[in-house]
Amino acid sequence: MTEAFKLGIVVPCYNEEEVLPETNKELTQIISNLVNENKITNDSKIVFVDDGSSDKTWSMIDEYSKTNDYASGVKLSRNFGHQSALLAGVTSASNSCDAVVTIDADLQDDVNAIPKMVDEFLNGSEVVYGVRNNRQTDTSFKRDTAEGFYKVMGWLGVKLVPDSADFRLMSQRACKVLLSYRETNLFLRGIVPMVGFKSAKVYYARKERFAGKSKYPLRKMLKLAINGITSFSIVPIKMIMQLGFLIVLISIGLLIYTIVQKIHGNVVTGWSSMMISIWALGGVQLICISVIGEYVGKIFNEVKHRPRFTIERDIYTEKTLKEENNEVK
Ligand code: UDP
Ligand code: MG
Repeated sequence: MTEAFKLGIVVPCYNEEEVLPETNKELTQIISNLVNENKITNDSKIVFVDDGSSDKTWSMIDEYSKTNDYASGVKLSRNFGHQSALLAGVTSASNSCDAVVTIDADLQDDVNAIPKMVDEFLNGSEVVYGVRNNRQTDTSFKRDTAEGFYKVMGWLGVKLVPDSADFRLMSQRACKVLLSYRETNLFLRGIVPMVGFKSAKVYYARKERFAGKSKYPLRKMLKLAINGITSFSIVPIKMIMQLGFLIVLISIGLLIYTIVQKIHGNVVTGWSSMMISIWALGGVQLICISVIGEYVGKIFNEVKHRPRFTIERDIYTEKTLKEENNEVK
């Protein structure tokens, strides 16, 4: 029997007052089962990350931290978005946990997959992906857009684990490597496979949101998708060059055609062709500039090296220090 290890479960929460009681209950149950099985130590923790919620989320987390030994939380100073909230939680948790699981607050991901992830970790995997084996509960729109996105990403040469989102387990070492990727524009799904180490997959059925509404409107989803593409691939810029060559080729053809027509004296007034080329080329140019602009904007944001999140209060670290002090005494 290997020695029990300390587990952290990071849960990003943005206005999740409706689901938190149930999430707290189910995750606590999972932790206490694992503690009873002697797989994890009893100082293992749930780390709720309040991503600048405007409802009662933080006061609930604060309350749980007092009444539940396994609960703790980190409060961000404002809304930084899902990916940064995850990173903030992983930063705190990986300081003292041997492995960190990240899971959404809405219980769409099956908490019963966590013990399976723990087993894979005990078998030596450092990254364990939660992979959903059905997406029946997502709207067909979300399913189709997600499928299209994975296709485009694959085509652009970005390695992703299909149908895995941000539900996964990472060893302390893998977390540290992840945190050493310093980019401000975060797309964790793309970075985690780059971390390497032995990995495994755990399959689970994705459920309906337990309560409340999705905090990922189309606008945020598109932003995540564009971010995913432009932080991992420069294929769009290369495509602009190919497009440029194609258009130059076409115009050489047109030039020859025009000269031949002129020699034969068939010159027409040429209004339609002028109009079409002005609009078509104008459009192509605008698109190309905007693609380049997207990357320039990215560089602009990255070179500033702004903090990716700001922690207002870290109950996880407060509790951990207290527990360590008690042990010493
Ligand atoms: N979330 C967050 N910050 C945000 C948006 C969402 O921390 O700005 C959290 C949210 O509380 C949830 C998780 O990210 O725990 C996933 O969000 P949601 O379930 O709304 O997304 P969906 O499952 O619809 O893609
Ligand atoms: Mg959800």
